Amino acid sequence: MECPYCRTNSSLLFIAQDYNRKLSNTPFSYYSCPGCHLIFLSPIPKDLSLYYPSTYYQNPSIEEIEKCSKHELFKIRMIQKFCTKGRLLEIGPSMGAFALLAKKEGFEVEVVEMDGNCCKFLREDLKIPAIQSNNASQAIQGQKPYDIIALWQVIEHLIDPWETLKTLIEDALLPGGLLVLASPNPDSLQFKLCKKRWPHLDAPRHLFLLPINHLIAFLTPLKMTLVLKTTTDKGAIGWNRFGWGKYLSNCVQNPLLKKLLDRTGGLFARGFSFMEKRKDLGSSYTLIFKKESY
Ligand SMILES: [Zn+2]
Repeated sequence: MECPYCRTNSSLLFIAQDYNRKLSNTPFSYYSCPGCHLIFLSPIPKDLSLYYPSTYYQNPSIEEIEKCSKHELFKIRMIQKFCTKGRLLEIGPSMGAFALLAKKEGFEVEVVEMDGNCCKFLREDLKIPAIQSNNASQAIQGQKPYDIIALWQVIEHLIDPWETLKTLIEDALLPGGLLVLASPNPDSLQFKLCKKRWPHLDAPRHLFLLPINHLIAFLTPLKMTLVLKTTTDKGAIGWNRFGWGKYLSNCVQNPLLKKLLDRTGGLFARGFSFMEKRKDLGSSYTLIFKKESY
């Protein structure tokens, strides 16, 4: 199978299923590219909306989102190391916990979100301008450029993450602006151990797992410099805990046992946490790139 990014012939890594949501028994083939180290799903299902059920997005109250947004503070603090004000665009905000906090911290926030209910909530309840679209490259055309563009756990869902990132950088990011990316880490300890059953593979919703070095190699020629890299931020530690709990609960059928394992996964994770804190082994990475000023 040809790598969709660098066209190198790639071998089958494994055949997975939708272990997280069990929406079908369809097999999903993932390949590993020896050239650029991308992990990719092929073929991509024709209708991906089948794999995003109505329960994919929660239906919270404003109070609940405000409570959730407090847990997003670490994200804001990472960004504030480099930029403390200006226009911030978030792609794929879901119900807007991060967007709301960014707004409260003084950023001028706008979002692009594909889900209609989320957009309604963002606009009407959180008073955040929201463009409804599943195509960020098109959605940002004609918008005033931004100081910060953030994609939290989004690039792995995109049909063409490279084209999207390139367009966002070239058409919507100001010189000196920041691109903030967080995504599941294919170099993580969990992926090495859990392989096709790694919950953050999330077949078939995650179309790609992009290694950190793959993104650096792609973004550097676009005049983007890496200024922050971590796999041990608060988000990654949360995803480590979630990953172990979900891995265990996916292995059992009994609903009570499932719930218990979902909740106690964190305890199990403690045994691994000292290893996951080592260089680049956490289950998710956060990267901040800065666009060249000119
Ligand atoms: Zn490749």
